[in-house]
Amino acid sequence: MRMYDIIDKKKKGQEISDEEIEYMIKGYVDGSIPDYQMSAFLMAVYYMGLNDRELLQLTNSMAASGDIIDLSAINGIKVDKHSTGGVGDKTTLVVGPIVAACGGKVAKMSGRGLGFTGGTIDKLESIPGYKIDIPEQKFYDNVNSIGVSIIGQSAEIALADKKMYALRDVTATVDSIPLIASSIMSKKLASGSDKIVLDVTVGSGAFMKSVEDAVSLAQKMVSIGEGAGKETIAYLSNMDVPLGIAVGNNIEVIEAIDTLKGNGPEDFNEICIQFAAAMLSLGGKGSIGECKKKVQKAIEDGSALNKLADMVEAQCGSKDYIYDTEKFDKAVHSYKWISDKDCYIEHMDTECCGKTSVILGAGREVKESAIDYTAGIKFYKKTGSFIKKGDMIAELFASDEDKLSSALEYLKTGYTFGNKPGKEMKTILAYVSKSEVKIF
Ligand code: URA
Repeated sequence: MRMYDIIDKKKKGQEISDEEIEYMIKGYVDGSIPDYQMSAFLMAVYYMGLNDRELLQLTNSMAASGDIIDLSAINGIKVDKHSTGGVGDKTTLVVGPIVAACGGKVAKMSGRGLGFTGGTIDKLESIPGYKIDIPEQKFYDNVNSIGVSIIGQSAEIALADKKMYALRDVTATVDSIPLIASSIMSKKLASGSDKIVLDVTVGSGAFMKSVEDAVSLAQKMVSIGEGAGKETIAYLSNMDVPLGIAVGNNIEVIEAIDTLKGNGPEDFNEICIQFAAAMLSLGGKGSIGECKKKVQKAIEDGSALNKLADMVEAQCGSKDYIYDTEKFDKAVHSYKWISDKDCYIEHMDTECCGKTSVILGAGREVKESAIDYTAGIKFYKKTGSFIKKGDMIAELFASDEDKLSSALEYLKTGYTFGNKPGKEMKTILAYVSKSEVKIF
């Protein structure tokens, strides 16, 4: 077998066999297939795509290229949730504790921020003391006793994806539906859960810019999950505006806590209730309608908030912060962006909003950058809102005062103001399972 022939076939739009895919992934991980040949293959896939069989085999081979996590020490059905990425997405911080409070099991490995999108692990580390790398046995014990544990993703999972993602990043092949699907699902298949709920984000702050592309990505990921024997469903969610109000680290944790108390922003609250109910329903706890009632109850009676506090304490964090968010450090400097006219927000470029939070220090400019946990933005008005002269559009936070003016200047380039309300999208746009696609 020769990598040259595999590239040549794919370039011509021909099918490649399971054996060829296995050979290619093994060779790429052991170093016998060089980056330049894998780059050519990735570009061939970018243009020619993969059929369902090829995609499943590629994903399975990528999943098998690193550790496969065995969660059998945890009792019950383990349901994972994964978002394809966005700005202000702190859903896991809310959904994990709610599911645990309703009797579900969440053994979750999360990632750090990537480019303009934030990461759950960075947000959790903004809670003083919180450890993301607890011993394996403690992770299982915590899920068994509390119902939820969120740790950092093992560096040994899906090794092929690690190398391929870095290559895609520098060869303009990130935005390919089959490559995104195999990248995400290889990590999900290796992470050991029984069932998967996917949040496929759509809009100016997501990889998928149109509902049509997002449905196609969702269908591919669902088909991979089902093909690997794990029941998988997906919802499409709106990422044409930042999710919720807060974008940053400790300000997002505070918003998550407010949501667990029933005081979250409307769009974020809706997403959390839907995903928690979907996870519970997949985990055998009743219909979606019944599970939504359980979710509401867990928020109202405080049990979901208590689960977050228990998880934080079990991972060496201070639960006092969960019950008194005033304890969190606040940014030393802030700037209120006030409207100088009456107008509508016709459009927001959410990727620009995410990049602005990185400029302020909430994300990493380079891999080694330290994060400023207090930095970020609060978006008080979003697309579709009418704003009056004197209204606050957004508030920016940073430890370094010099960053505020450059960040604001950049943020302003992402807004279109005018006299029309602009296109306001629903929060949850579609549902995709192996047998149906429902557009809401
Ligand atoms: N997240 C991933 O893990 N992989 C992709 O390709 C895109 C988003």
